[in-house]
Amino acid sequence: MKTRKFTGGVDFAPSTLKLKELFQLDPRLYVYEPEEVMIPFDQHIGAPNEVQVAVGDRVQAGQIIAMTDAEVSGHVHASITGEVTAIREVPNLAGGTQTAVVIRRDLTASPTDLQLLRQETTVADRVREAGVVGLGGATFPTHIKLNPADHVDVRFILLNGAECEPFIHADDYLMQRAAVKIIRGGEIARELLQADKILIGIEADKPLAVAAMKKASAGVADCEVRILPVRYPQGGEKQLLETLIGAESPLGGRSVETGAYTMNVATAKALAEAVDDYRPLTRRYVTVTGDVAAPRVVDFPLGTCAGELLAFCGGFTGGRPSRIIHGGPMMGRTLHELRTPLTKGSNGLVVLNQTHDRLFAESPCIRCNRCVISCPIRLEPQSIDQAMRAGELGRCEQLQAEQCINCGCCSYVCPSRRRLAATINEAKQTISQLKKEAAAK
Ligand code: SF4
Ligand code: SF4
Repeated sequence: MKTRKFTGGVDFAPSTLKLKELFQLDPRLYVYEPEEVMIPFDQHIGAPNEVQVAVGDRVQAGQIIAMTDAEVSGHVHASITGEVTAIREVPNLAGGTQTAVVIRRDLTASPTDLQLLRQETTVADRVREAGVVGLGGATFPTHIKLNPADHVDVRFILLNGAECEPFIHADDYLMQRAAVKIIRGGEIARELLQADKILIGIEADKPLAVAAMKKASAGVADCEVRILPVRYPQGGEKQLLETLIGAESPLGGRSVETGAYTMNVATAKALAEAVDDYRPLTRRYVTVTGDVAAPRVVDFPLGTCAGELLAFCGGFTGGRPSRIIHGGPMMGRTLHELRTPLTKGSNGLVVLNQTHDRLFAESPCIRCNRCVISCPIRLEPQSIDQAMRAGELGRCEQLQAEQCINCGCCSYVCPSRRRLAATINEAKQTISQLKKEAAAK
């Protein structure tokens, strides 16, 4: 089976690559240990959690602080040992607020102190108790995805190490440092789903990660590292399927129906740590880059404040930032508040100063069709954008706005810098909300 090229997408222009050089990261991994964390109750897609602690409680890192009995959910744990000083509203990524448990660190406790998971549980229960969710950004609970009853004939476990967003290297650094654990996560998924083969996809611009993963997988049967072309959005689930196994995920259907289960490499590591080491998910890696003095990848406890991490990376350069993006520049969301806590879905903070952000000013559409050619889902971005701006939601639905994967390719290639992805995402959310409301009546 050969590695293929997927339809649509973009090769980054030399100007972006130049920017990439400008945002060169320190090759070392940094560890940040804040004195306080603000841990949101809900860091997953699914049912809302209920708080399990009260103000004044002493909590140990690894202790469950929010959970629900609902199946589609993800437990949340204390990420540091200390005292619960407040349960209050903190900023969220949508510009609103979310409820969080605030913990002040006990400075006498060791940073490695961790309450482990119960030992007498099944593998599936351990994954659930550990709060493992999709760490590639989806945050869907992993124990649900790994339920064998839900799958028929899964042949491939695809470990996604593509990390195609420009400037983001959290998974790259993780693969260099935790390759054995990541492969082990792939093996656990293979055992649970009775799949045959593990394929690991990594873009060619990450040679150190490729080398580490090849070394770790050398003695593992039916496990292969594939080097992928550097093309955005190579790390999208549908694009990875197309490239690695030549399968096309049905529009509106589930990708697992193609016979492959995809999992981000950070999720695979968290899965192995939960199953083998009884460790709950309390930390992750994040890339802090762009117009900061010391761009770097940081290992941080969940609930760390974004502003603190930016300060840890030397603060802003080139004046007051024009924009801070949570995630990558293609699919990320603008951060409204520096006090926003970083969570399980946080893999990047990209700062753009006025000079770099000027690249994104909008002008009228010139009907060049580039957005259509670049769309990996074969949508008509300019038509959906036009319909949404005219308030024609029905037309957006006809044009299948709901199938958009928010990859941002259309916005990136548009010479008029139209904010296509943002408008289409708004259409998608509005249609989905209206459908939910109609179903509830
Ligand atoms: S319409 Fe959606 S899927 Fe297509 S290029 Fe734009 S953001 Fe990506
Ligand atoms: S790429 Fe931009 S300018 Fe070209 S058709 Fe699409 S929206 Fe219009």
